Amino acid sequence: MLALSASTLPVGRDVIVAVVARYEEMLATLPHDLHGECAKQIARRISVGSGSETIYHSDGGHFAWTEEARPLDMQLSHLEGLRALFATPLQIGPHTFDTNIHFGVDRNEGVDAPTRVNSALASANEALANGRAIELFEAHRLVEAPWELSLHARIDEGLRNGDIWLAFQPQYDIGSGRICGAEALIRWNHPTRGPIAPNAFILQAERAGRIDALTYWVLENAITAALAINAKGERLQMSVNLSAQMVDKPDLVRNFSDIVSRRKIDPGLITIEVTETASLGNRAAAFHNLSQLRKMGFLLSIDDFGTGEASLAYLADLPSDEIKIDRRFVARIIESDRDRAIVASTIQLAHALGQTVVAEGIEDASTLALLRDLGCDHAQGYYLGKPEAFAGFERHYDASRMARLRGV
Ligand code: C2E
Ligand code: CA
Ligand code: CA
Repeated sequence: MLALSASTLPVGRDVIVAVVARYEEMLATLPHDLHGECAKQIARRISVGSGSETIYHSDGGHFAWTEEARPLDMQLSHLEGLRALFATPLQIGPHTFDTNIHFGVDRNEGVDAPTRVNSALASANEALANGRAIELFEAHRLVEAPWELSLHARIDEGLRNGDIWLAFQPQYDIGSGRICGAEALIRWNHPTRGPIAPNAFILQAERAGRIDALTYWVLENAITAALAINAKGERLQMSVNLSAQMVDKPDLVRNFSDIVSRRKIDPGLITIEVTETASLGNRAAAFHNLSQLRKMGFLLSIDDFGTGEASLAYLADLPSDEIKIDRRFVARIIESDRDRAIVASTIQLAHALGQTVVAEGIEDASTLALLRDLGCDHAQGYYLGKPEAFAGFERHYDASRMARLRGV
């Protein structure tokens, strides 16, 4: 790490620091002569995933490198992909470790190397402490400061004037070929900045303390949509995403309960999607909340299954109804025997535990056909329908319903 700080950073690069969770514990259980091997294996995975040949290392499970400064949303999804490489346990000699990795990113081009490495390091530690995948030491913080400070107000304004809106993506029942549900996905078309990627904007909303307001706004609007479709006499299951930052909040259950009773909707029509990375600190509170919500009748779905930490442990502990296989696995089931095996066994395991299985990110007919053969229950992806505003979603829904009524 000192070597990286002392170097001249090339132009157009982000500085990234990864911190490996429970690294010290891992070392403590390993004989001393395997410590080097442990660091090497981690560095090798990072190198494969990042494409960077040189990975710098320091004590405490920190690894650093530089990467091309891609647009923010691309960089975030690239790092999510790199994180998925750590879903497979580390095998060091005869020892197996489940592990997880958190990233800190510095995008301050033009600042000196030691400062940038330190910022990325501090952000990685912050990510680890908060149970977040990625923490940004924000690009041009000074320029951005007014924007960040007023984000709170901008979100409220966006909600009021319609710049923030909700898209709906259909979920199909693979057996019957009908639309059985939809996922509500938030969108922000900023008048001067253009569309802001939801991943980036959720992260910002969490920081600005606006994630609660956004989540309840999403829930209200998703309910409006679900009631409109269900008034046609059919059953549409509506999925909403619950940020990991909210899962353990003390007022979560009461708020959800108040909203469904006021809106007079059966909570069984609402699926709450949670990721496996729900904040580590308050696991007990999170599990308590989720169990309460499930008792009230909401369905629980484990989102991005396979990419978080300890997937199996999570599945064993958390009462859930559905698992959503992450699109990183789904996308490659045709070419990769390994990913196909992972998806096939995940489906079997989920069924054995009484779970419904949804595959997301289906982009072509052959992937859909293979998933059907593997016994997957529900399907979501661009091939079947992109997220769109309610009017468009409803047109598609009605068309598929009419086609069915006519027996097409
Ligand atoms: P997610 O929950 O995993 O949502 C699925 C993402 O996959 C959506 O991205 C969707 O547009 C995209 N997708 C669906 N089918 C395909 C496909 O065939 N190919 C590809 N390449 N992508 C596909 P989107 O809308 O950009 O949302 C990104 C993430 O932002 C979501 O990931 C979710 O984590 C978060 N998000 C979106 N809306 C909300 C929200 O209301 N609340 C919270 N907390 N998070 C949200
Ligand atoms: Ca989701
Ligand atoms: Ca997902």
